[in-house]
Amino acid sequence: MQILVLSDIHANLTALDAVLEDAGTVDEVWCLGDIVGYGPDPNECVQRIRSLAHLTCVLGNHDAAVLGRIPLDAFHQDARHAIYWTRAILTRENLEWLAEIPEKQTVENFTLVHGSPRNPIWEYLLDPVSAAQNFAYFETDFCLIGHTHIPLQFALISPEYPARWTQPMVRRQVHLRPRTIINPGSVGQPRDHDPRAAYAILDTEENIWLARRVLYDIESVQERILNAELPRRHAARLSDGW
Ligand code: ZN
Repeated sequence: MQILVLSDIHANLTALDAVLEDAGTVDEVWCLGDIVGYGPDPNECVQRIRSLAHLTCVLGNHDAAVLGRIPLDAFHQDARHAIYWTRAILTRENLEWLAEIPEKQTVENFTLVHGSPRNPIWEYLLDPVSAAQNFAYFETDFCLIGHTHIPLQFALISPEYPARWTQPMVRRQVHLRPRTIINPGSVGQPRDHDPRAAYAILDTEENIWLARRVLYDIESVQERILNAELPRRHAARLSDGW
């Protein structure tokens, strides 16, 4: 099966639509959380994701914060501002839909979480040491994560050197070896200094992961962020991908 793997859309509908168009026809869509937060289009993004067939979704920290499940003082001031704004603007129907999303899902040989298998909502997996500790927290061959907004993978090699951090993957095809944690990067707010929307196509028969990037109209999103009086920083960072 061909799976479209998405994460960290962050209410950026223009990026999401560019990814959906670029990905073309797929058998399933797996979404690794943070559909909302930061960006100007939370209702539109929730509705677009809800409308996708064969969808599996896990909850992100921004989604959880909008639902009131995380204390807002855990967030940077600018992120907090967007969470309040999102909470006020989301329709009851979209909030109720978000509230049903679980923190962890298992599909075939894949565990799906937003942050890490050890702490699905909050832990950032950026270094091999924390990644190595997390292999004890999932039993499937593969674990898909988001949250850091950086495309990367950690493969369990040996007890002495338990994880390898490969370089960010840009349009790279990788044959996944069993016991790998992998992140497709962010659709709506990339942070690896490449402003293009990031996503992946996963072939579950061959275990082939194709990391992809796609250009979208960043300026139109920045304009909507400023018009909504969301923090300017959320608009500025999209141009540089940080
Ligand atoms: Zn995020």
